[in-house]
Amino acid sequence: MIPVTRIPEPKAITRNGVRWLRKVKETRDSLNNALADPSKKNEINKARNKLKQAIEKYRHDDIKKALVKMFLGKCAYCESRIPHITYGAIEHFRPKSDPAFEHLAFEWTNLLLSCDICNDAGHKGTKFPVDSSGNPLFIDPTDGVINPNTHLDFSWDEVAELASIYGRDAKGQEVERVFELNRKELLKIRSQHIKLLIVLLELAKTGHPGAIALLKESCEPGAEYSAFALIHICPHLP
Ligand SMILES: [Zn+2]
Repeated sequence: MIPVTRIPEPKAITRNGVRWLRKVKETRDSLNNALADPSKKNEINKARNKLKQAIEKYRHDDIKKALVKMFLGKCAYCESRIPHITYGAIEHFRPKSDPAFEHLAFEWTNLLLSCDICNDAGHKGTKFPVDSSGNPLFIDPTDGVINPNTHLDFSWDEVAELASIYGRDAKGQEVERVFELNRKELLKIRSQHIKLLIVLLELAKTGHPGAIALLKESCEPGAEYSAFALIHICPHLP
């Protein structure tokens, strides 16, 4: 996870956000009215579907494109590249399924790009844990304040040849656990990638221009798992 600078809100939200949100509020009121009589199951189901349809306006092409551009095609949480293997997901940092955050369904600052695994029900899903002061335990890489390095240790074990992510504090540990940042396949691919960079680094130290150029690229924000390269590669480049 690396800090990401948020780009301007896409026009789809500027043009439609207020109208979309009004519809969400209307359909939420209809659902609440329907729920007053639990025997009317058909009415309740219809109202529930209408609310779902109203919220799903966030799945707009322009919003997805803006998120892919902002995150340079990488998952906000695990830094895996998305577009060449899957569509990725528009992720609501504060979950839209929670009525308390329904009003943030089209709020640009609440939207991130996530891979399908980090976003699924077994990982982030609809979870949004907070500490005893009510502050989020998850990390929004676009918030401009939190540096993921403060809470997460991007560790390279040269003996085991593993690139692991460990929480440094309660926030980091919650992120490590819920997103399962050391899940088997992710750990394997990430470790292979970092191992290759470490080997290239030895070559770069001999002055090999191709190796130096490749390693500089690995430290760019658009490179996969660049949080590791920024710590274990870039400071050692000749
Ligand atoms: Zn991910």
